[in-house]
Amino acid sequence: MKIAVCAVQGAFAEHEKILQQLGVSYIELRQKADLNNDYDALILPGGESTVQGKLLKELDMFDIIKKQIQNGMPVLATCAGLILLAQNLSNDTHTYFQTLPVRVKRNAYGRQLGSFHTEGSFGPFEQVPMEFIRAPYIESVQENVEILSTIDEHIVAVRYHNQLGISFHPELCDDMRIHAYFIEIVQQTSTS
Ligand code: GLN
Repeated sequence: MKIAVCAVQGAFAEHEKILQQLGVSYIELRQKADLNNDYDALILPGGESTVQGKLLKELDMFDIIKKQIQNGMPVLATCAGLILLAQNLSNDTHTYFQTLPVRVKRNAYGRQLGSFHTEGSFGPFEQVPMEFIRAPYIESVQENVEILSTIDEHIVAVRYHNQLGISFHPELCDDMRIHAYFIEIVQQTSTS
């Protein structure tokens, strides 16, 4: 199994560190030629969604990645990555891949409370540490989107078939359960 980590901007190195610890090999996607590699899944890291979206388009990577997601390649998207996947953004006129049928609010926690740490449940897991950094949350989901985590009545993690969208940064904590959960989805996808 090989995971491709989108590395044009943002917190990609932190995801790679966790993959290393889990013994999963990965490559970085920095330019169009990197998309010719063989890989089984994608990670879209946190960072600045406007910058990432712009770079992916300028580097001519955007359409290919969008097609891979539409064709069922598993994707783990955290924070800015979630914004890139969202079908609608409630407070931004830009949208990006639009493959995940949810409405997302950018910088949803405001400036004062922009960054905070909490613990909560995520799917089958309890007491998962969650690091929020100028985070978005999910305001509404369409049919067949599975809600995996809700914090203070806001949806912060969902799964829709091959897409896992998360408001917070599991790659910034020592807890590797969310990445392991994603790896399991990748394994199931590649054997089915
Ligand atoms: N606020 C950023 C954005 O709108 C996301 C923050 C993050 O990824 N930590 O893109």
